[in-house]
Amino acid sequence: MNYKTHINGGILVGLYTNCQLANMPLMSTAVLLGGAFVGSIFPDIDHGNSYIGKKTKGVSKAINKLAGHRKLFHAPLVYLFLYSTAIGMFTDKLMLIGIKGIFLGIFSHLVLDSLTIGGLPWFYPFSKKRFSICMIKTNSKIEDILCGMLICINIVMLLDMLHITSIFTFTHR
Ligand SMILES: [Zn+2]
Repeated sequence: MNYKTHINGGILVGLYTNCQLANMPLMSTAVLLGGAFVGSIFPDIDHGNSYIGKKTKGVSKAINKLAGHRKLFHAPLVYLFLYSTAIGMFTDKLMLIGIKGIFLGIFSHLVLDSLTIGGLPWFYPFSKKRFSICMIKTNSKIEDILCGMLICINIVMLLDMLHITSIFTFTHR
């Protein structure tokens, strides 16, 4: 998937989680969404031609050489391990919200990449086999439609949260 789809997937998960956590202060909401934004594009740092890869040139190249594309940096089990470690390391509430945001964004990235033809190595490092559940081609018309749908859902969620519309039920908190 391209970075636009990933960013919108990350924002969607961030907004949804924000609705579930009732009465979040504005600062926490900003940290959660910021984390989800960063997390949603982070895994593609293993690809020099990706949006984040182009921004981090040398780092991305080194990671690609060392870890390859869609391997270590696209491994759900690795992130699960990192998440449990990171959560145990901090006690600051805002820091924990930021970490949760980042990993929610990463989670959305992994789900979206699982919908592509290339698939995702769900059990890496135990198996290199990639799993794909939808066969969507990156940058195809279908991805554009999916991205458009994500944008629409995000806009409606935002309008709901600002009490301008009242379309989704989970936003009524
Ligand atoms: Zn990716």
